[in-house]
Amino acid sequence: MKIQLKHLTKKFKDVVAVQDVNCTIENGEMVCLLGPSGCGKSTTLAMIAGLEMPTEGAIYFDGQDMSGFEAEHRDIGMVFQDYALYPHMTASENIQFPLKMKSVKKKERLEKVNQIAEMLQITKLLHRKPGQLSGGQQQRVAIARALVKQPKILLLDEPFSNLDARLRIELREDIRTLQKKLGITTIFVTHDQEEAMSISDRIILMNQGCVQQYGTPQELYRSPNNLFVARFLGNPPINMFHCISEKQHIRILKEPDWRFKEDNIIHVNEISEKGILGIRPEDFSVVSDCGQIHTKIAAIQTLGKEVYLRCQSKDAPFIVCLRWDKDYQIGDLLELNVNRGYLFLADDEKEGMILN
Ligand code: ADP
Repeated sequence: MKIQLKHLTKKFKDVVAVQDVNCTIENGEMVCLLGPSGCGKSTTLAMIAGLEMPTEGAIYFDGQDMSGFEAEHRDIGMVFQDYALYPHMTASENIQFPLKMKSVKKKERLEKVNQIAEMLQITKLLHRKPGQLSGGQQQRVAIARALVKQPKILLLDEPFSNLDARLRIELREDIRTLQKKLGITTIFVTHDQEEAMSISDRIILMNQGCVQQYGTPQELYRSPNNLFVARFLGNPPINMFHCISEKQHIRILKEPDWRFKEDNIIHVNEISEKGILGIRPEDFSVVSDCGQIHTKIAAIQTLGKEVYLRCQSKDAPFIVCLRWDKDYQIGDLLELNVNRGYLFLADDEKEGMILN
């Protein structure tokens, strides 16, 4: 099922929750609605589900305007953060419930439950009640319940937020495999950029009700439309420096020795004279001498295969992410180069960004 959002807007009295959203989600695609808390993700999802009515604009499923369709007639499966299982029913009864509502006969119900349970690896848990299941198992049951009636669309609202990190990774891999196998158009709401990057065909990144960028994870990461996008994606986040444009070079304002050739830099938008230069933490490399940047290590965080070094500059401290193949010490002097081609330059006034 192809989903089109056209000029989709939702106002709650004077709060504009969603503002003029225009996106097409292709049949079989997995798209994440990503953005900080309160940016309008859940409201957008609720409008697609038919749980909220748009103030303006419309939603189309395979070209058909959904305005007159109630939630139960939209052929959607939904999964929520809190599982929303019926506590007095077993897992099997929970999964059967949507089929019962459609008066599907018991034999067929049980066949379908067994099929979907196998896909979600919960066959052995079907006789248990939700209280006897872990969070991850409960969410598998909730996903099975959403999928058992073979909907055309699957909507997931922060489905893994209540689970620990390891389980989250396991479940998101499984849901992605299942989604591809079933070819079901899926929209997944999350505020977690790593989750969105790892699971999506495309990401709709929102801020304050508006779409900031819609594209593949790679497009958003490497060709951001603006500094919000550049800063939202990436962990640790991109470093930002005030800079000035000078004869085919960009110079960091407070660090006159830090100069970068302008043709190595991706222009997010045109800058007049002053701007902001973004450098991702992983785009630095250490050199033994003649580095572009001379700095000192102020703090160290080791993560196993990587190490994050907080380094000093006169503008603001910045983070360098390196392979942890050497023991760094606080106070060590570092010479750094920046890898070609992944510096972002933006006009600070157009972006309205205040650093530090
Ligand atoms: P997100 O899912 O990105 O956290 P929401 O879609 O829940 O964001 O909310 C977007 C904005 O709309 C927020 O400012 C929120 O407070 C507001 N909002 C959401 N639902 C309602 C409601 N029922 N009544 C009033 N304001 C609401």
